[in-house]
Amino acid sequence: MNHIHSESPSEILARLRATFRTGRTKPLEWRTAQLRALRTMLTEGGADLAAALHADLGKPSGDAYRTEIDFTIREIDHTLDHLEAWLAPEAVAAPRHLGPDASAWTQYDPLGVVLVIAPWNYPAGLLLAPMVGALASGNAVVAKPSELAPATAAALARLLPAYLDTHAVAVVEGGIPETTALLAEHFDHIFYTGNGTVGRIVMRAAAEHLTSVTLELGGKSPVFVDRGTDLDVVAERLARGKFLNAGQTCVAPDYVLTDPLTAAALEPALRRAIEGLYGTEPATSGEYGRIVNERHFDRLTGLLDSGRVVVGGGTDRTTRFIAPTVLADVDPAAPVMQEEIFGPILPIVTVSGLDEAIGFVNDRDKPLALYVFTESEDTRHRIADETSSGGLGYGLPVAHLTVLELPFGGVGESGIGSYHGRYSIETFSHRKAVLAKPLA
Ligand code: NAD
Repeated sequence: MNHIHSESPSEILARLRATFRTGRTKPLEWRTAQLRALRTMLTEGGADLAAALHADLGKPSGDAYRTEIDFTIREIDHTLDHLEAWLAPEAVAAPRHLGPDASAWTQYDPLGVVLVIAPWNYPAGLLLAPMVGALASGNAVVAKPSELAPATAAALARLLPAYLDTHAVAVVEGGIPETTALLAEHFDHIFYTGNGTVGRIVMRAAAEHLTSVTLELGGKSPVFVDRGTDLDVVAERLARGKFLNAGQTCVAPDYVLTDPLTAAALEPALRRAIEGLYGTEPATSGEYGRIVNERHFDRLTGLLDSGRVVVGGGTDRTTRFIAPTVLADVDPAAPVMQEEIFGPILPIVTVSGLDEAIGFVNDRDKPLALYVFTESEDTRHRIADETSSGGLGYGLPVAHLTVLELPFGGVGESGIGSYHGRYSIETFSHRKAVLAKPLA
């Protein structure tokens, strides 16, 4: 499919739309064949993708498999196991005024030609996992990998056409000009993962064609640590979730809210947890990633004096290394608290207790995820009922997105719509309403 590069966006759209019109992508057999082919691509091309992820992000091989390659395989297997059942028409009761012989049901229709735009932080998984849903739903797909992860984008542009049906799937590489050109085209759905500024650009472009959008965005995901919790357990789980992919994870714990006494005890616990995960010299750890580029490195190092450095603080621009860092005594007005950190810096902000923590969260944008460490049932209920976030994790950050039976997505500033498992079918299909009344 190298010829794709010589095709303009409108030529690609016309070609894929023509394929879709033939009905080629609709049968269950085509959909499952694409999913199996994608699975084969991930097993045969897994090492290539892992090497590319290492080149782009210093991503440890284990993380590349766990969070992107095997993660997508799980999504594929889950979908293959359930797709036929998910797609079955659902009968509903027809109302009495239509007579006893009337029947009604819903049927899932593919949307048509969909665009998937991926970010750089999980540049394989966040392109492929939405594609699983798009293909399972019977759509033709234009896939746009992130130019900020160039090795992974190149590997995907080479691998995807070698395994998938090139009549119905196209990969378009490129940055802002190429994406802008794509967005001018009429898609039937746009699935965008990335930041809210570009999310708005995508939604504006989609509005021109009345195209529906899914926006998987980010923001600051808070953590509340209650008094009286086992802080060694808390610190270990927090550090794992925060410093995975050097903090460049959309659902990474962004900052900690806790009372002053707990904060004081959490500091040494976090130091121990970080040393346990990455040793005393994280720069030499094979388990720790790098910042994606110099621009983000400079942005992040500019946030390091937002508080007292408890652990970490070391940086090396030539290797784009920033040590796992914890900042204490952080003022809510400090720079690190003004934007999504998206890097390995964990600020601790003190509050008087649960009421102030809930107020703090509700004073800000609705987060993609909210995490709570508490032994109190009452605290769990209050957080669940009094705050709004894309997802909620008690006792374990990040992992809720591995539960494929749960919808994954944001709310408000953290996004629109959701996916994973059957929610991907909802996202990439139209649920058509059907009424039938016999003629005689
Ligand atoms: P990015 O810079 O790679 O951008 C994402 C995509 O948008 C790329 O494909 C890029 O080419 C395109 N793009 C960039 N500027 C554009 C423009 N002006 N016009 C059209 N297209 C444009 O990734 P990013 O936004 O830096 O990613 C990080 C953000 O993504 C964070 O906010 C993070 O929280 C969020 N994120 C969310 C999820 C989620 O699932 N909700 C997952 C990962 C990342």
